[in-house]
Amino acid sequence: MSWSIKLFRIKGIEIKVHLTFVLILIWAAGRWGVTMKGGTTGALYGILVILLLFVCVTIHELAHSLTAMRFGVKVRNITLLPIGGISQMEEMPKKPSEELRMSLAGPLSNFLIAAFLLLLSIPLKFQAEVSATRVSQLMGSVSWEGLLAYLITANIMLGLFNLLPAFPMDGGRVLRSLLAMRMDHAKATATAAAAGQGLAWVMGLIGVLSGAWTLVIIAIFIYLGASQEGRMVEVKNVLGELRVRQAMTTECQGLSPDQPLSAAVDLILHGFQTVFPVLDEGRLAGVLTEADLVSALKEYGPEVAIKMAMRTEVPTADPDGTLFEAQRLMSEKRLNALPVVREGKLVGLLTPQDVSEAYLFLSLKPELLAK
Ligand SMILES: [Zn+2]
Repeated sequence: MSWSIKLFRIKGIEIKVHLTFVLILIWAAGRWGVTMKGGTTGALYGILVILLLFVCVTIHELAHSLTAMRFGVKVRNITLLPIGGISQMEEMPKKPSEELRMSLAGPLSNFLIAAFLLLLSIPLKFQAEVSATRVSQLMGSVSWEGLLAYLITANIMLGLFNLLPAFPMDGGRVLRSLLAMRMDHAKATATAAAAGQGLAWVMGLIGVLSGAWTLVIIAIFIYLGASQEGRMVEVKNVLGELRVRQAMTTECQGLSPDQPLSAAVDLILHGFQTVFPVLDEGRLAGVLTEADLVSALKEYGPEVAIKMAMRTEVPTADPDGTLFEAQRLMSEKRLNALPVVREGKLVGLLTPQDVSEAYLFLSLKPELLAK
């Protein structure tokens, strides 16, 4: 089961909340109700503070997503977790200037919210005395001023924290896009990832020396995020400009939509293939996977036609497309094969094995792969 529940949709983007989010509400109720001795009012106030904080987090993610959509990027959903929000996009904007604007939109929205709340607080006259102690006093108190002080501080912190120049923070993408305006994309990512790891080491060291363990945890989180982004680029560098046609399996067995399921069982038992393109007069009509075959066998039996079991909505790859993109599509859609199609006609099948073979031989002897 999925641990997220759907809340609502904005401009086609589904907003979901992870069930662990309840934990942070319980923590907030405890902090303001028990630790700060606010009683029931305090507990309710704590829940209100966190809910409003997450409205700000949602606005931050929406700012990214809506900007990305303007550049033609598909956004699937936004999930709210206790540690913040995550926007799931099908891909990142390609142009550095677009990535820059998309990355800046999130933190910028937090600064705008903080500015707006500051304006709201003018009638409440709390800006009369702006000092760190006063703000931290206010943040702890159960009052409208306290609520405003909390949200203003939190939004400024959220904006600043996300601007740290390290992946997976927005600042990492800002740095990468600025670098990509001067060098190629892969080198820019590698440089930004290295900068992020450097920053993580400095933060971790400061954290250990001063005993600030939260800082150490953040440093580890940044270090892992930066390494992951760097590895992606490494794979992309090795696969480089390799095309799908250089790695795909060309001698694959196809089935016809009217053949019985037992024909597919035969092929699986006597061959290596587990995924079959289904061809209708040479044109790709669908794909039959082993999992679909098994569930259709259970439901209908072996005599039923393959067209009852095949999936018809399958993404395909172009023989001249890059292997890196095809591999990404497979892992994103959790497919174990991608039909390769030119002008509606099937020319081959690409599997994750084909990709890892290409990766292996390319790193060993690049000349082995035909152009
Ligand atoms: Zn962000």
